Amino acid sequence: MQIPLDKVYKMTPDEFRKHAHELVEWMAGYMENVENWPVKSSVKPGEIFDKIPDKPPQHSESFDSLMRDFNEIIMPGITHWQNPNFFAYFPANTSPASILAEMLIATLGAQCMIWETSPAAAELEEKMMIWLKELTGLPSGFEGVIQDSASTATLTAILTAREKATNFSGNIDGLEKSVILKVYCSEQTHSSVEKAVKISGIGRKNLIKIPVRDDFSMDPEKLREAIFHDKKNGHVPCCVVATLGTTGTTAVDPLRAIGEICRENDVWLHVDAAMAGTALILPEFQWMLDGKEYIDSFVFNPHKWMFTNFDCTAYFVKDAPALIKTFEILPEYLKTRTRGKVNDYRDWGVPLGRRFRALKLWSVIRTYGVEGLRYKVRNHIGIAAELSEMISKEIDFEILAPVIICVVCFRYIPAGYNEDQINVFNENLNYRLNDSGKLYLSHTVLNGRYTLRMVTAQTNVTLEHVQKAWLLIKETARSLIS
Ligand SMILES: *Cc1c(COP(=O)(O)O)cnc(C)c1O
Repeated sequence: MQIPLDKVYKMTPDEFRKHAHELVEWMAGYMENVENWPVKSSVKPGEIFDKIPDKPPQHSESFDSLMRDFNEIIMPGITHWQNPNFFAYFPANTSPASILAEMLIATLGAQCMIWETSPAAAELEEKMMIWLKELTGLPSGFEGVIQDSASTATLTAILTAREKATNFSGNIDGLEKSVILKVYCSEQTHSSVEKAVKISGIGRKNLIKIPVRDDFSMDPEKLREAIFHDKKNGHVPCCVVATLGTTGTTAVDPLRAIGEICRENDVWLHVDAAMAGTALILPEFQWMLDGKEYIDSFVFNPHKWMFTNFDCTAYFVKDAPALIKTFEILPEYLKTRTRGKVNDYRDWGVPLGRRFRALKLWSVIRTYGVEGLRYKVRNHIGIAAELSEMISKEIDFEILAPVIICVVCFRYIPAGYNEDQINVFNENLNYRLNDSGKLYLSHTVLNGRYTLRMVTAQTNVTLEHVQKAWLLIKETARSLIS
């Protein structure tokens, strides 16, 4: 049975105002108290699911009742990424300026697929990409576009490389009759590269994982050999992905050596700097970009370490026309009078629809200022160096990888344990620490060793948080052996 139109629920502007003001109170209170929440949610699988009704409500419910359930059902199942004791993975930082901009973005609800559907969004995006290009020291000829994630940007790069390598026939004929294309990355490269190679039709077996050196960076000589070998077999090397700041240990692949090999073999060089890209705003980290003249495409995530809410990925390319040629489509309903005179970003990546993400970047960069951003990033790097020193002082702990930016890899070594026992011990230690709710660490495996990984880059982390966390780690480890 249908209800009359005038009975259909509609939130009035005054009701909206009331709820929004209450929410702002909630938001500010959350920011003030986020440290008091257990960092990692301790709910069991299915616990939240079972608390949500199986069927949607037939009749209108109040927003207040939604907020009640949000607080009671949802909040216990949240992992608090904005808690400064969040040391896991890489951060997904927010900042007040970014959150405020997100409110505007949500309110405008603009769909920024082409210039005409919001000229300000397209032009602010173009300008923000110029700001970021200059801040990170990328070559001046590069052009940038905001993507939803580094994974998408890397897919975008590999698809463009595929099209260049096949003289743009892949898009038209498919890959069935194509030569075999090869993509290269190191053993420490992020899994998004493998995903992109699968999606692109190149095929996972054509992704060659190059061994790393002692510092977990790609061995360029091994890359040279692999490319030589593939060419000898009639295959076509299509793309090399170099990482600045691997996910495990923030190892930095040697860009210049890799770039020279790419140039000699006419191979697309994509650089994944998802996390470490932010460190490039510091002059003392420009060394990572030595060899930048060889780069074809570059990605980094302001939504990780540049205080901008997820999602906001910055993707740069040297040859923007090749990118556009790979992605452009022109159905009748998208034809405009301005085409060719402006940037229609729907042609610069996979999705058609796009959020107005440049606004939050603008808000963050203006609010912090370049000096403020540099201060915060430098501070995080300094904290990691101090943590590494604290760990090195203890004879029963071991650092397992060079500390380059803000990730410290270590483990505990109980006396008399063999390698297998040490691994089991550190895995248990990790669970024990995370279950405490006082901090959150994640792990990796390096040369067969279970490795604890501590990232000191949450927006509001201080040396005190890290000192306290380190005390807890030491005490917990030592108490677990007795
Ligand atoms: C986090 C990360 C990614 C994936 O980032 P998304 O934006 O979540 O897709 C890719 N590469 C590296 C090196 C990363 O650290």
